[in-house]
Amino acid sequence: MSESFPTDFVGLDSGRVSSILRTIEEGILLWNTDGYLMYANPAALVHFNDSEERSTGCHWSLLAQRCLSAEGLPCDGECFPLDRVLAGDANTRPVRLQVRSAEDQVRWLRVHTQPLTDIHGAVTGAVCSSVDVTRQVEQENSLKLQAHFDTLTGLPNRVLFSDRLDQALAHARRHRENLAVYMLDLDGFKIVNDSLGHPSGDQLLREVARRLHDSLRGDDTAARLGGDEFALLIGDLKTSGQCEQVVKRALDAVGAPYFIDGAEVRVTASIGVTLFPGDTMDPDQLLRHADQAMYKAKQAGKNRFSIFDPTLESRARANLGLIRKIEQALERQEFVLHYQPKVDCRAGRVVGLEALLRWNHPVLGQRMPGEFLPLIEHEDVIVSIGDWVIDEALREQARLRAAGHELTISVNIAARQLVRRQFAERLEAIVGEGCAGSVGRLEIEILESAALEDIGTVSGLIAGFQKRGIRFALDDFGTGYSSLVHLKRLAAGVLKIDQDFVRDMLDDPGDLAIVQGVVGLAAAFRRDVVAEGVEDMEHVRMLLSIGCDVMQGYGISRPLPVEAVEPWLRNFKPDPRWQAPLAEAARSGAALLPRTGRLR
Ligand code: C2E
Ligand code: MG
Ligand code: MG
Repeated sequence: MSESFPTDFVGLDSGRVSSILRTIEEGILLWNTDGYLMYANPAALVHFNDSEERSTGCHWSLLAQRCLSAEGLPCDGECFPLDRVLAGDANTRPVRLQVRSAEDQVRWLRVHTQPLTDIHGAVTGAVCSSVDVTRQVEQENSLKLQAHFDTLTGLPNRVLFSDRLDQALAHARRHRENLAVYMLDLDGFKIVNDSLGHPSGDQLLREVARRLHDSLRGDDTAARLGGDEFALLIGDLKTSGQCEQVVKRALDAVGAPYFIDGAEVRVTASIGVTLFPGDTMDPDQLLRHADQAMYKAKQAGKNRFSIFDPTLESRARANLGLIRKIEQALERQEFVLHYQPKVDCRAGRVVGLEALLRWNHPVLGQRMPGEFLPLIEHEDVIVSIGDWVIDEALREQARLRAAGHELTISVNIAARQLVRRQFAERLEAIVGEGCAGSVGRLEIEILESAALEDIGTVSGLIAGFQKRGIRFALDDFGTGYSSLVHLKRLAAGVLKIDQDFVRDMLDDPGDLAIVQGVVGLAAAFRRDVVAEGVEDMEHVRMLLSIGCDVMQGYGISRPLPVEAVEPWLRNFKPDPRWQAPLAEAARSGAALLPRTGRLR
């Protein structure tokens, strides 16, 4: 079978072939082996913007000069492979070319060049077919544009911004450069949109986009991520000052007045910045961090910027890990309570136990509350811990009651738990259970400073529950604001003098004055008073002499593990030395301060 077109077989003569070639939409160009054009049909002349006179006999390289590659580069042997085809390469692929008309209009062609051979396979020339694909390319481009650019402002959208951020990060890593990601949110845009209408809002967004774009260097990117949220990507930062200059320019550009429909409109911007290196290499996280910083700028009063602090973030992440570990520790019952006795040294009897949390960490051993509670005080898990502490302390109280020890149990409660509705409900339930032993023998210790934070809620809570038998103590008293007005409002039945004052009162007259002051206040407001941090006999003596009888501290007993509590209580005997200062005072006739003496 012949490879050449069988004109004889279908009964066509060459005249008929040319007339067909004249009418088809495809362009056909025939070249001789030297690369000169032998024939071009009318469609090809249109495609290549050529005339018959000009094209006849022209060398392919002249035609190629009038074309550009798909990327818009001058055409070379790659995009117009006639030389290769004439050398016998029958496997070239169709290529896309651009041809620019005299009116500067671009026509896109799909051109396929193949060799013409005789019956022996020798190359006798080449044929190019061309198809006009302008409409298809325009459609593709417009789709690409929609996928990468924001239709309202023409700025890159989130997709393109992410692409560019990826590239910029790779570049910055390779060349050890700095880059900054800015997240910008308009302040007050909603008001403009709601009051002037959406078309005006759109106009404003377009103008903001233009100003942001104009405030940057050519290589940097301003993008609209959605709504009134924009992002900037600044590469090759040399100094931190440069980073702030960009912010300042952006703030000034956005903050300048706008004139929309004859009205002057003003908006400002809040900007969050994060820097690479320093922050993570993950592009999504960089954006998130810039976003977090932007919220900080908003919270700090808007029309300003805030720079993301990676050290804070890593601390927050570490806390997140800790929160999970603490939740697990609760489930695995790794928490235990130790109990520290409170003793009325004047009466020589134990009046209560304070439950103190310990974490028996499987690897690190026993961890004290000061090591982990401050890190989670704002987290919900502190509430779960508090619930567990109350339940466990009440269980231990019941066990001790069964063994013949009727004692008040104190638990420490975090501020976060205190103001939760569930906490009040929990106390209601305890009151409701009505086991006479519990009610009136549960005491809640709250930090004085925490009580002052939300004095309205806390004072109501305290007043309500104290009437029904649950007592409240203000812990570490003296370290908060300690105003008389506040003390009057907070009906807490007990003041616990902070151990720092007690410990140093023997050497520091200022601390002694504070301890005396608190004892006096307690008497005046008819509250009980407990001294914490009583480490030795001298403390006991001094406290008794100034009228504070109830004490807690290593000098009396360290916090005891649960199994040691009952034996300690059973073997408790008042220290005879406690009586000495009282006897001495009685002998010398010294007037002791009024007793409050309401502790059970
Ligand atoms: P706090 O309620 O003021 O408890 C007194 C702290 O002082 C305890 O430390 C206790 O062991 C220690 N202490 C007692 N006597 C002496 C003494 O004579 N000298 C010295 N240097 N220290 C003494 P701990 O157990 O480490 O607890 C520290 C703080 O952690 C507590 O202070 C309390 O605010 C908090 N805490 C303890 N358990 C819990 C709990 O279950 N929940 C909450 N929210 N906080 C708790
Ligand atoms: Mg306490
Ligand atoms: Mg305390």
